[in-house]
Amino acid sequence: MATDTTENEDLILMVGYSCLDLVLSAPRYPEEDSMSRALDYHKRRGGNASNSSTVLSQLGAKPELLAVMTSDEYGEFIQNDLKANGIIFENCPIYPNINSPFTSIILSLSSGTRTILHYRPKDYPNPTVEDFSKLNLAKYKWIHFEGRAVPEVLKMIDVLDAWNTLNYDKKVLYSVELERCYEETKGLLSKGNVVFLSKEFTKYLGYTCPISALQGLAQIVQPGANIVIPWGEQGAVARSGDGVILKSPAYKPTAVLDSTGAGDTFIAATVYYLSKKKSLLEAIDFGNKIAGAKCGMVGYLGIN
Ligand code: ADP
Repeated sequence: MATDTTENEDLILMVGYSCLDLVLSAPRYPEEDSMSRALDYHKRRGGNASNSSTVLSQLGAKPELLAVMTSDEYGEFIQNDLKANGIIFENCPIYPNINSPFTSIILSLSSGTRTILHYRPKDYPNPTVEDFSKLNLAKYKWIHFEGRAVPEVLKMIDVLDAWNTLNYDKKVLYSVELERCYEETKGLLSKGNVVFLSKEFTKYLGYTCPISALQGLAQIVQPGANIVIPWGEQGAVARSGDGVILKSPAYKPTAVLDSTGAGDTFIAATVYYLSKKKSLLEAIDFGNKIAGAKCGMVGYLGIN
């Protein structure tokens, strides 16, 4: 387990998912029912919140992860890797009798795509409001919620909102991520100081253009909340709490080698800058720079 922590440590907490990724780089995406050779492979820790924690640690922040851990072989690999990256996971619930989720990812070097096939054991648990309630919220500078198991996340947000009301001078800012295209995900729209929407979820809401989404959602998010929408190769757009529309272009790498987790990288870098009180425009621009750099390299190490 990671080292013990005390109050006011400026930790950034990522709440969400962790799994094992097996990533194969191939010259091109293979034909179905064919046999071909990969150029390279990497076994690494994956999952949105888990990836964002890695990026935060690379940027010099102090990340903590709240995700379900297992104690099988893959679970041990994940915990060792968290330790090696200085990511605190002392509050993660550990389930001894279940297998870790697993993802197989094929990177095509000719097209830059990443094709993901994910296995999640049936009834695999997510962090609960009970897990969240054990945290000493005074330690955190920022909390980010991956939009997974939304009803439970909404209960955690209720706990955080209540704590913030009682501790106004130590208020913890928080962000939510709406990525998964389910009706329940919409419940997060009205939560948080920053609302991140994925391209897919924005389209799921019926918007084809991110700027019209920023305008359409302005009345649904909390008054004063920022809305941020990363849009792949086009960079990102945002709407500040006082209604200013902001745009930042993508920073294209010489070659796209691994775009897995580009969105997780963008969120981590943007949250990091916001937690340092940078402006929203500086934050999304930094998010694009780091996410662009990530697309040009395999994995996350050395991203800063
Ligand atoms: P994901 O597919 O992981 O959800 P997105 O497509 O939303 O990620 O992209 C997130 C961010 O990653 C973008 O805002 C951009 O900064 C960066 N990005 C993604 N694809 C590229 C690319 N081909 N070139 C440069 N930057 C990219």
